[in-house]
Amino acid sequence: MTFQDFNFDPRLQESIDAMGYSNPTPVQQQVIPYILEGKDLIASAQTGTGKTAAFLLPLIHKILTEPQDHHSIKALIIVPTRELAVQISQALDGMGYFTDVYGIAVYGGGDGDLFNVERKALSTGADIVICTPGRMIAHLQMGYVKLQGLKYLVLDEADRMLDMGFHGDILKIIGFLPKQRQNLLFSATMPPKMRELARKILHEPVEVNIAISKPPEKIRQGAFVVYDEQKIKLVSFMLRSNPYRLAIVFCSSKESVKKLTFELKRAHLKVAEIHSDLEQLEREKVLLDYRNEKIRILVATDILSRGIDIDIIDLVINYDVPHDAEDYVHRIGRTARAERNGTALTLINPKDQRKFSGIERLLEKEVPKLPVPPDLGPAPEWKPFERRGGEGGRGFKGKKKRMGGKPGNNNQASATAEKHIGPKPVRQHHHKAPKDSSTG
Ligand code: AMP
Repeated sequence: MTFQDFNFDPRLQESIDAMGYSNPTPVQQQVIPYILEGKDLIASAQTGTGKTAAFLLPLIHKILTEPQDHHSIKALIIVPTRELAVQISQALDGMGYFTDVYGIAVYGGGDGDLFNVERKALSTGADIVICTPGRMIAHLQMGYVKLQGLKYLVLDEADRMLDMGFHGDILKIIGFLPKQRQNLLFSATMPPKMRELARKILHEPVEVNIAISKPPEKIRQGAFVVYDEQKIKLVSFMLRSNPYRLAIVFCSSKESVKKLTFELKRAHLKVAEIHSDLEQLEREKVLLDYRNEKIRILVATDILSRGIDIDIIDLVINYDVPHDAEDYVHRIGRTARAERNGTALTLINPKDQRKFSGIERLLEKEVPKLPVPPDLGPAPEWKPFERRGGEGGRGFKGKKKRMGGKPGNNNQASATAEKHIGPKPVRQHHHKAPKDSSTG
């Protein structure tokens, strides 16, 4: 499935292309069609699954294409923390970059000037407002927040909001909103008190559950932070220095399977390869030899990550970081089957550091980074969150655009967008004057 299948407004599709998103994540595939249909929704999805885009993209599309009240806030996103408010607003900057949909994060702290910036945006009708509960109530009580045309409400990380004691505040905010609206609730967990809140707020919601399975605890996990040029030597070293009965090395493409197999054979290791270019009979023969321990090392693409069930595999090597957490769990789950133990080692090049850190976050487990053997030369440092310099943002898009920024080039969250956008030429962008020109 691609993003084109959603038939988003071309301006939105342009932003998606510029961000380098080609395929929707599982949560996006499931959630976006329901939001486009106008359904209320309750989704259990963790951070790192792409859930922010799962609600922002269809909201931007609806704001662009459906009749809206131009003097009102159209969507309100309530979140537990300032950090999340900023992060979502930065994501919105990227996703809405080629559209004129604009948003503001309203999260408290700061000085009177910031309060005034928020007040102006709220009283002139920013399209999308991302807020923490306390600060939003402070504004609402002053009476100037333009909500008459509000159509969409999102509660993000709702379980955290309940844990932080925001139940009453959420209901209070909702008391200010028009009754006719679409409600979306996202939560990593679904305790009974969440269902109770959902019953109060949502209208006949569809339920989507994107649970990430966790790998068994008994798998010993480790990772090496390396340069690409060091990988082949390291794999060869690992296969010689680790005890195992059967080992499997996963690569993300058949080209790298072929290349690695060639190099390992050159290093006098007895290996076989398996990927989609082999005929079915050839594959079966390779698997039989492997099962019978005639060959003890198999180099494979992800076609094997879900399928094979061989109890005696005790070493899994990820030659590169798998596409997502689900693939990681499936790959390393090839070992430690039945009552046995197993080891899973992953090679992380500088480009994959952020992706691996996202997988660790989803699995709620930090994988130990192991020392690279000294004779392979100096290895890169583990720095998945290396920041790029720049201003801290509130995500008031009109303001940023006049400052000549690319979509979100000033922060950690947008470093991802920058990474995607990097190779593309910077496009000429026609700045849209913000609705209230005095805010800039
Ligand atoms: P989230 O779960 O919303 O915190 O998103 C996790 C990360 O995935 C963010 O850095 C997003 O920019 C990125 N992301 C979201 N959707 C996609 C996609 N379809 N393709 C590639 N990256 C994505």
